Amino acid sequence: MDNFVYHNPTELIFGRGQLEKLKEKAAQLGSTVLLVYGGGSIKRIGLYDKVVSLLQEAGCTIHELPGVEPNPRLSTVKKGIELCRRERVDWILAVGGGSVIDASKAIAVGVPYEGDVWDFYTRKAQPQTALPLGTVLTLAATGSEMNRGSVITNWETKEKLGAGTTFPTFSILDPENTFSVPRDQTVYGICDMMSHVFEQYFTHTPEIPLQTRFAESILKTVIEYAERVLANPEDYDARATILYCGTMALNGTLPVGVETDWATHSIEHAVSAVYDIPHGGGLAIIFPKWMRYVYRENVERFKRFAVEVWGVDPSGKTDDEVALEGIAATEAFFARIGAPTRLADYQIGDEHLELMAEKATPFGPIGRFKKLNSEDVAAILRMCL
Ligand code: NAP
Ligand code: FE
Repeated sequence: MDNFVYHNPTELIFGRGQLEKLKEKAAQLGSTVLLVYGGGSIKRIGLYDKVVSLLQEAGCTIHELPGVEPNPRLSTVKKGIELCRRERVDWILAVGGGSVIDASKAIAVGVPYEGDVWDFYTRKAQPQTALPLGTVLTLAATGSEMNRGSVITNWETKEKLGAGTTFPTFSILDPENTFSVPRDQTVYGICDMMSHVFEQYFTHTPEIPLQTRFAESILKTVIEYAERVLANPEDYDARATILYCGTMALNGTLPVGVETDWATHSIEHAVSAVYDIPHGGGLAIIFPKWMRYVYRENVERFKRFAVEVWGVDPSGKTDDEVALEGIAATEAFFARIGAPTRLADYQIGDEHLELMAEKATPFGPIGRFKKLNSEDVAAILRMCL
């Protein structure tokens, strides 16, 4: 196990009726707030009205940034930064999914920074300070509610890049706020959280039994509850379980002492940057192909994955056969829950394949399980066609 420091300052407020706590939190963070949200789902489910009245009861003046896009754009982030500066906003409240939270994180670090906020994403600078940020999460997927990651798309340059920004001060997660998430978005969220576990599970770091079992238990729980949540979107305990899995998959618990990979996320970001497809859908297509491309780097790990996560019986089989059965089971699961399986499902052909391979490797080779250069990425993308 490698050395590590484990620090996560986000206060997670989880469960039915917990939105009430917003009033107390708002009073602590300041009297002028920027309320950030997406294309309107929070209005349709009545959450917007509840949030606004709690903020008003706390004595807050509210400014709004609606319309954050799925795959949030730099132009929207810049609008938010200007608004915060003009109105001297004290703190930011993000109400929505990962896109709304990621955009809000970018605004939070962008306001006190004198340069261009995009510098954080191109690795020219690192955030030193941020406005406080609270979140009310409405979609189980990214873990953004309890990490410092933010992924932003620069639509002008067709780049989608992630940066370490700022942790939310608090995040309120009421599973009932996820009842209305449509089937396709529920599936994408499941694929995203499983992918987060994969990125941190396929490693060469030896002797990480607890991290390994944590990861496997998240995967097994998601697999077990996915079909339940899809069969009954208003099953509270199923929604709660999936929601908590999404948070735990990417809140810093799994990667401690572990050399993690993250190549597949870079590849997906490149596809999304060119074609603006849903993140979880892209991952469902790419991850099994990445697995096939790299599994020989550590067959033992893939064998364990097959046996522990998918219940593959290894007796009488070679290590390769067991590993490949685990990969096939992953692919079959994604297909069974209705995720896309090929780039063709999004009408993506090989027209921009080399361009995407370049965009996936903006700072040089990616991944640590197997280092991938742009030719490797092109080969993986070709497997996805
Ligand atoms: P999202 O892009 O935030 O939301 C997807 C769609 O779901 C939107 O159209 C949204 O509608 C709708 N939606 C959200 N909550 C809903 C609800 N309760 N009922 C009905 N519809 C609802 O999805 P996401 O998967 O959470 O976020 C994806 C983004 O996060 C991508 O850009 C991805 O790259 C990034 N990401 C970030 C991290 C991280 O750690 N920061 C990790 C992985 C991925 P409205 O717009 O109308 O609300
Ligand atoms: Fe992700």
